[in-house]
Amino acid sequence: MNPSSRDPSSGARPAPADVRITSRTRSRIPTERGGFTLVLYETDYDADQHMALILGEIGDGEDVLVRVHSECFTGDVLGSLRCDCGRQLEQALSLVAAEGRGVVVYLRQEGRGIGLLEKLRAYNLQDEGLDTVDANLALGHGADERDYTMAAVLLRDLGVRSVRLLTNNPAKMESLAAHGFAVRERVPLGPFVNAENAGYLATKARRMRHILPMSDGAGGAGEADGVGGTDGVDGTSAVDGAGRVSKNDGIDGTGGVSRGDESRPREG
Ligand SMILES: [Zn+2]
Repeated sequence: MNPSSRDPSSGARPAPADVRITSRTRSRIPTERGGFTLVLYETDYDADQHMALILGEIGDGEDVLVRVHSECFTGDVLGSLRCDCGRQLEQALSLVAAEGRGVVVYLRQEGRGIGLLEKLRAYNLQDEGLDTVDANLALGHGADERDYTMAAVLLRDLGVRSVRLLTNNPAKMESLAAHGFAVRERVPLGPFVNAENAGYLATKARRMRHILPMSDGAGGAGEADGVGGTDGVDGTSAVDGAGRVSKNDGIDGTGGVSRGDESRPREG
């Protein structure tokens, strides 16, 4: 079940502090990347089982490397080339493992919140020529119905206070900031561009404000200035808990956006 409202700031929804956690179980999940702990939540907010995959000690909760990932069965599980979700999830897990501390929140809001059935229907409309936004609109949905309230609930429960967010989506930074988390930095992912998803990613940059670092399209880049000419990328990128917004290129107010272990631009 996904909340039907399209406005993430809607006052009709409970604040994260008011969401009651009804079940919370943690299990050890060893992976080739490292030893994670999976925490599964059930709450009175919705009927879904949202999860957090943790590695290392959260400690004081400051500057935690965090990915807020929305479920994508086709991308995450099947490795579909229609989007970049699976690759982003893999990179996020690898970066958290490399850092030795971090959280990947996995929200059960398939297909930008419209569910798998409707996402597949939207895929068929895209095969007929609509872009990803118009396909969702044609089916009577919002362009993006995702809701990040549960990410705030989980991160709060885990003791996270400020984050370095693994994302290309300003809406995620804005939502976490609105819920009281200081977003210290945006750590870009990808780009993971291929012939199947190039139009989809371009639409997300043009119509959904996604920051798409277009360089060699082979997993390099990651510098914010690589998107300077991308239509639709505006100046709202880093937002802190006090509501301050900084420009793309200043991204976090504390320095650059690139991480030492991020892939670097590969010129030529
Ligand atoms: Zn996907």
